[in-house]
Amino acid sequence: MPKGSITERTYIMVKPDGVQRGLVGEIMARFEKRGYKLIALKMRTADEALLKKHYCDLVEKPFFPSLLSFMTSGPVVSMVWEGLDAVKQGRQMLGETNPLASKPGSIRGDFCIDMGKNICHGSDSVESAENEIALWFTPEEVLKYDQTRAAHIY
Ligand code: ADP
Ligand code: MG
Repeated sequence: MPKGSITERTYIMVKPDGVQRGLVGEIMARFEKRGYKLIALKMRTADEALLKKHYCDLVEKPFFPSLLSFMTSGPVVSMVWEGLDAVKQGRQMLGETNPLASKPGSIRGDFCIDMGKNICHGSDSVESAENEIALWFTPEEVLKYDQTRAAHIY
């Protein structure tokens, strides 16, 4: 099967700075217009316990305390997007971890310059997407429905 032809799910999150700056609609519109299907959506202020699980690979990093305080500073918007090659394409749409290395046209490349305030999160592999979706949503919150948009039929 050709690379990129598999329907995947990815966990995308607008971080507190993205919510504060009114970029939720902009970010969602990019995924919608590209042809990805929104199958879960939730807004909440995350607590430290949840974020320690979400960022379990980073707890020993020197920047982890500031990441934790930033991520608990206000509400985040959690989303699951479904479609072809969603994990890799989602990461490309977000840009690089460091906004200064992100290409114009990516979300980080267009809207930020600070690595500590880089607006959005996207799963980095199919396996982490599954773990993150299960962490941020109950199974019932991830919906199954038909979407019949002429331009986007999977
Ligand atoms: P990504 O969000 O691109 O997957 P990581 O998973 O490596 O990046 O890191 C999670 C988040 O931690 C980053 O989005 C960024 O906000 C923050 N971060 C990562 N590395 C650094 C760093 N060296 N200094 C400050 N913040 C960082
Ligand atoms: Mg990451």
